[in-house]
Amino acid sequence: MTVLVLGGAGYIGSHGVDQLIEKGFDVAVVDNLQTGHKEAVAKKARFYEGDIRDKAFMASVFEKEAVEGVIHFAANSLVGESMENPLMYFNNNVYGTQVVLEMMGKYGVKLIVFSSSAATYGEPKEVPILETAETHPENPYGESKLMMESMLKWCDQAYDMKFVALRYFNVAGAKADGSIGEDHDPETHLVPIILQTALGQREKLKIFGDDYHTPDGTCIRDYVQVTDLINAHILALQYLKDGHESNIFNLGSNEGFSVKEMLEAAREVTGKEIPAEVVERRAGDPSTLVASSDKAKAILGWQPAYTSIKDIIASAWNWHESHPQGYGTPASEKE
Ligand code: UDP
Repeated sequence: MTVLVLGGAGYIGSHGVDQLIEKGFDVAVVDNLQTGHKEAVAKKARFYEGDIRDKAFMASVFEKEAVEGVIHFAANSLVGESMENPLMYFNNNVYGTQVVLEMMGKYGVKLIVFSSSAATYGEPKEVPILETAETHPENPYGESKLMMESMLKWCDQAYDMKFVALRYFNVAGAKADGSIGEDHDPETHLVPIILQTALGQREKLKIFGDDYHTPDGTCIRDYVQVTDLINAHILALQYLKDGHESNIFNLGSNEGFSVKEMLEAAREVTGKEIPAEVVERRAGDPSTLVASSDKAKAILGWQPAYTSIKDIIASAWNWHESHPQGYGTPASEKE
C-alpha cells in the first residue's frame, strides 16, 4: 500500500515514516522543511520538498504517486505561537488541509489519518477526557485542529472520504535506538527543554505557573511515547482499509503528571540536578489534560508498549545525549 505522509520530516511524522517502512508500506513524504529535517526521513521513502498549500506542487505529487492513503502530520502546533499569530494557524493548518482534501478528491483517494489534538477540548469538565466530551478550544491551535476535523467530517458526508482523527495528548520520547528524535528550533516543549537543561545547554527550566488548581499547582499533562503514538496511526490506517466508518480517538496514557513531577522523574533518569524556577503562566495553557484512551484500545486494538514515564523520558534522553545538537550534530559525532 502506498501511503503519502504529509509532514513526514517533523518530529512525529519522521517516526511515522520510519515505522511505516519497517512494517512494509510504500511511503512518499511531503514536507516544506519549515520545522522538519530532511535527515530525519527514512531513506527508503520518496521525498518531495514543498508546501501542502501549493496546489500545483501537490497535484504533481499525486500525479506521480499511486496514493492509497494519506497520513496528515503537516501543521503548526505551538499553543503560545498560535495565541500570538492566529492567522498563521488558520492559513497553514486549515487552508492547508483544504488543499489536501481537494487533492484527495481530485485523485480519488478516500482514506486519511489525521493528527488532531487534545487542545480541541480546552479545559475539560471531567478527567480522564472521553472523545464524547465537549470541545471548547482555548487557543487558535486547538481551534484550527477542530476546524480541520470538521472539514473531514463534511468531506466524509459529501464525498465518502473516510477519516480517523487522532487527538494526541503530549507526545514525548524517541525511537528506542536513538536514531531519530525531537529537534525543534526554538524548542518549546517540556521534555526536551528539561533534558537540554540536564545537558547544560540551558541554565534552568522555567516552570510556567504554580498557581493552577492541581495538587502541586503546576499543569498536569498526559504523556504518550512517540513510537506508541505512531503505532496507533498504522492501526487506524488498517481500520480504514478494512472498511470501517470514520472515527475519532484520543491517544494518551490515562495518567497525568505535573510539570514538577516530570522534572523530578527526569532528575532520576538523568542523574542530573536540572535547576528550575517558577515563572508566570504561559497564555493558552489549560491546567489539566488527561486522556481516556480506552476507545483506541477497544476499537483499534492499540496497546502502548511504554507504561512508565521514566521509560518515556529515558528514550528521549538517549536521543538527546547522542545528538546534543539534534540533527545539527556533525556526522562524525553521530555514531
Ligand atoms: N512547560 C513549562 N516550561 C517549559 C515548557 C513547558 O512549564 O519550558 C509546561 C507548559 O506550561 C505545559 C506543560 O509544560 O503545562 C507541557 O507543555 P508543552 O509545551 O510541552 O506541551 P503542550 O501541553 O503545550 O502541548
